[in-house]
Amino acid sequence: MKLILLGAPGAGKGTQAQKLVEHYKIPQISTGDLLRAAVKAGTELGKQANEYMTAGKLVPDEVVIGLIEERLKEDDCKDGFILDGFPRTVAQAEKLEEITDIDAVVNIAVDTSILLDRLTGRRTCKECNAMYHLIFNPPKEEGKCDACGGELYQRADDNEETVKSRIETYNESTAPLVDFYRKKGKLKEVDGQGAIDEIFQNILKVLE
Ligand code: ADP
Ligand code: AMP
Repeated sequence: MKLILLGAPGAGKGTQAQKLVEHYKIPQISTGDLLRAAVKAGTELGKQANEYMTAGKLVPDEVVIGLIEERLKEDDCKDGFILDGFPRTVAQAEKLEEITDIDAVVNIAVDTSILLDRLTGRRTCKECNAMYHLIFNPPKEEGKCDACGGELYQRADDNEETVKSRIETYNESTAPLVDFYRKKGKLKEVDGQGAIDEIFQNILKVLE
């Protein structure tokens, strides 16, 4: 199963990807996580990427394509994978077609008006990248990951100003991918508003 999760920032891609990982036993590949790891490690790539990420802009195509190309060669991807946050431009999608064949693209559709609250309330585990929300999906113990006990933090780009820029970037550069994959007959649409488990069941249904 080679799967893409499409959707605006805050649509629930990461949340659903983590449930799909457990279900299908294939890895989640998040370009955002790969880039944040590079920023944390202080690599040259990380330093370059950080400027774009802080501004809520897209990191240049050639950088993320290079990251993905390397990641997909790893052994754990041989039975499939879940792409979360890639592709984000038509150029990335076209390049991906040269690298591999994707089975399905799930678009998690939500109303733009809910994204700001979802993202400013998001908390992420420092250790395992699990996602929580202060109100909509709080951890059992405040500030601590249910899955691994790691410390929860607020991403630097989950502030109001950067979120607004990320949503604009999504509308300009990434939203056209919905039509791109629809035309290829690969698009599955799922309503991303409602209970997390209900949305997950709907994703499984469209993938059957
Ligand atoms: P994305 O990966 O698409 O940017 P996330 O999965 O990180 O989005 O979700 C963004 C925030 O919204 C997180 O804080 C998450 O806990 C919360 N969230 C995810 N799905 C739902 C949902 N169905 N209802 C309410 N909040 C949700
Ligand atoms: P995410 O974790 O998916 O919310 O991504 C966080 C940030 O990383 C984005 O706002 C972009 O700056 C950058 N990023 C992640 N994935 C990509 C991608 N496929 N193309 C370009 N930039 C990306």
